[in-house]
Amino acid sequence: MSGAPCILVIAEFTQTRPTKLTCELLGLARGLAGATGGAVSAVLLANHADGVAEELIARGADRVYAMRHAALADYHSESWVSAATQICRQAAPTVVLAGHTAAGADLTPRIAFRLGTAVATGCIDVSFAAGSLALTRPCFGGNARETVSFNTAPAVATVRAGCYDALAFDGKRRGEVVRIEPRLGEEAPRVRVIERRRDTDDSARLEEARVVVAGGRGLNGSDGFRLLEQLAAALGGAVGASRVPCDLGWCPRSWQIGLTGKTVQPELYIAVGISGAGHHLAGCGGAKAIVAVNTDPEAAIFKDARFGVVGDYQKFVPAFIEEVRKMRMSE
Ligand SMILES: Cc1cc2nc3c(=O)[nH]c(=O)nc-3n(C[C@H](O)[C@H](O)[C@H](O)COP(=O)(O)OP(=O)(O)OC[C@H]3O[C@@H](n4cnc5c(N)ncnc54)[C@H](O)[C@@H]3O)c2cc1C
Repeated sequence: MSGAPCILVIAEFTQTRPTKLTCELLGLARGLAGATGGAVSAVLLANHADGVAEELIARGADRVYAMRHAALADYHSESWVSAATQICRQAAPTVVLAGHTAAGADLTPRIAFRLGTAVATGCIDVSFAAGSLALTRPCFGGNARETVSFNTAPAVATVRAGCYDALAFDGKRRGEVVRIEPRLGEEAPRVRVIERRRDTDDSARLEEARVVVAGGRGLNGSDGFRLLEQLAAALGGAVGASRVPCDLGWCPRSWQIGLTGKTVQPELYIAVGISGAGHHLAGCGGAKAIVAVNTDPEAAIFKDARFGVVGDYQKFVPAFIEEVRKMRMSE
């Protein structure tokens, strides 16, 4: 790679703030740029609230390309791809980073196609090695990792949550906000949004929670999740799930943890009725301690668990909630 790189981060945000993952991407971008004397820019689309651009600067961006337009108000594949590609062409970045979220995974391959380059999705490590960018991501259903590099430019990638630290908010950091007029084209959209469902506050907390209590097929229905909600509340944590309960409608899709779901890195991960498939562990293997509750002593999850309970969750979880509550009362 010749010259100092420009790292462009595509920001996602809640009503008023950049998401935690966006802040992590800025931390990663700062590290990549810092090693080589490059610059960090952020793309801010939609009708964002005042202050979001400034927070992106306070979290590590040198420049924010901000675009406001009614068609960008909520995520929409076509308008966001057009807008983000327009900014990429103007900013001429070396690397384009987005979060490995539903929007990021939808957006980046389309941007890469328009820019005539490639995309690496679901990365867990991005670094410069011997002057070129090396991106590591899980493969073979989470059972192995591959490191890839780009023959084309810019490098476009999505990065999983929890892989990098966000920088501390620094209100004294100075940067530039560049307002961009969108050129979204006159063509009728080919994509029509039929329905939008917002994540609840609880599911948004999942990736940030220090304790995650996750349920699998072994819960045998949605009632089991009510029990896990009580346990999570007693421990001050959030509830997650393997893919099966999400597919079966026992819990919201946004609770899914794993290769095709969210990545969490809590201090404590309690896996209840989860067998421990590689696809699932790809999303929780970075937890500091895994506690598994499973009737099958041969379940694969026990290989990754620091503590294991062999038994029926319906007997263990209520008793455990009781003990946690007692301990909390006596604190
Ligand atoms: C391309 C691809 C992507 C995938 N992505 C994901 C992903 O992102 N996340 C994910 O989770 N999966 C994913 N999967 C599915 C994954 O391979 C597994 O099928 C899934 O994780 C299994 O879920 P589970 O552990 O809940 O169910 P099971 O494997 O059926 O395990 C249920 C466990 O519950 C135990 N049990 C039963 N009754 C009780 C009880 N009363 N008390 C305690 N324990 C009990 C059983 O002993 C068993 O170990 C993916 C699969 C593919 C092919």
